Amino acid sequence: MFSKDLFQESKKFIPGGVSSPVRAFEPYPFFVKKASGSKIYDVDGNKYIDHCLAYGPLILGHADPKVVREVSNQLTIGSAYGAPTENEIILAKEVVDRIPSAEMVRFVNSGGEATMSAIRLARGFTGKDKIIKFDGAYHGAHDYTLVKGKPGEACVPDTKGIPLDTAKNTYSVPFNDEEALSDLIQKDGDNIACLIMEVVMGNIGCIEPKKGFLEFVRKITEENNILLIFDEVITGFRLARGGAQEYYGVTPDLTTMGKIVGGGLPMGAFAGKKEIMELIAPNGPVYQAGTFSGNPISVQAGISTLKQLDDKFYKDLERKGNFLRSNIQSVIDEQGYNITPVGCGSMFQIYFNPAPVYNNEDAHNSDAKRFLRYFRALLKEGVFIPPSQFECNFISSAHTMEDLTQTAEAIEMALEVAFK
Ligand code: PLP
Repeated sequence: MFSKDLFQESKKFIPGGVSSPVRAFEPYPFFVKKASGSKIYDVDGNKYIDHCLAYGPLILGHADPKVVREVSNQLTIGSAYGAPTENEIILAKEVVDRIPSAEMVRFVNSGGEATMSAIRLARGFTGKDKIIKFDGAYHGAHDYTLVKGKPGEACVPDTKGIPLDTAKNTYSVPFNDEEALSDLIQKDGDNIACLIMEVVMGNIGCIEPKKGFLEFVRKITEENNILLIFDEVITGFRLARGGAQEYYGVTPDLTTMGKIVGGGLPMGAFAGKKEIMELIAPNGPVYQAGTFSGNPISVQAGISTLKQLDDKFYKDLERKGNFLRSNIQSVIDEQGYNITPVGCGSMFQIYFNPAPVYNNEDAHNSDAKRFLRYFRALLKEGVFIPPSQFECNFISSAHTMEDLTQTAEAIEMALEVAFK
């Protein structure tokens, strides 16, 4: 069957025809046949250079040979034990060795589970209930953070099915806005357990913190007994060996991870200072558990991946990111398009917005319809990126300079179509 027919069939049995909402796009998403390295192939016979990369986990590209080999070996000796393994210690040591804020780590099954657990832990540690997030940040599909609100006011649910009682414990403030954050903490800091943030906002495109903003956030949280949680589900092991906290040189109290930590298999993790982490069950009173937590297949994939990520790896990846970004900039300069290219390390995006983008409101001033024309034109040119202005695009080590040159050429063509 072709993608078009599979989508019709899928919609009969799976809500919206997809297992996660962003995967659906008009008129229908392509259905995947296989993937290898930097390429993904659909059932219709098309091949794409993949810059979606499963929304971030595949830093080595698809089906990395070492990961495949070692995970396959693990599969032959069992896929779940319900008892600890030495490999969990090996992966935990890898995480602790790399991530500046990590002294201890607990493995979970997804990034969302990691952020939910880290927030609970922060509440348990501080004895306070309220939390702060930034407008537009995504921390997983759980009730604590699927909320929206005006600065200084209690949040309300952002989607149906979330109790108002849960939402009202969260505040949301604009990213990169020191004044809004400071006003809120002055007003209600005594009741706030933690501030959770994406260091680079990867779920409304790709927005970096302004110079000095992270230092400000670190200082004001510390002064007010508010735990600082860096949600590094995207940036962890992507921007640097030690994630965004190494890249920008600011250390939080707790860190949440996902995507790359599981080497392309489902996994999440949260980590932090020993005195905080020791509060988790069975040592402490904060409950956290999971049948598949520390799953041996995911743990093996995580080890096989992280062992390949040294400082040289990140230098190479950054060089590739810079190459692509400078090519995109040249196209924009030549053609005079009113758009803003953004990105850092191996993350990139183009905002269909002529003004600089510092926060959620700026991001939403983008011409999302024109973006979709660009997205569709890119697909025609053989390049796959997430089908949304409000996602980030990625580069893996499997992308060759030839791939990136092709991507840059495809972007040039796609922009021409989008602005026709
Ligand atoms: N936090 C961030 C920053 C994310 O980007 C995501 C997912 O994209 C999550 C948390 C949730 O992770 P998962 O989809 O593994 O639950």
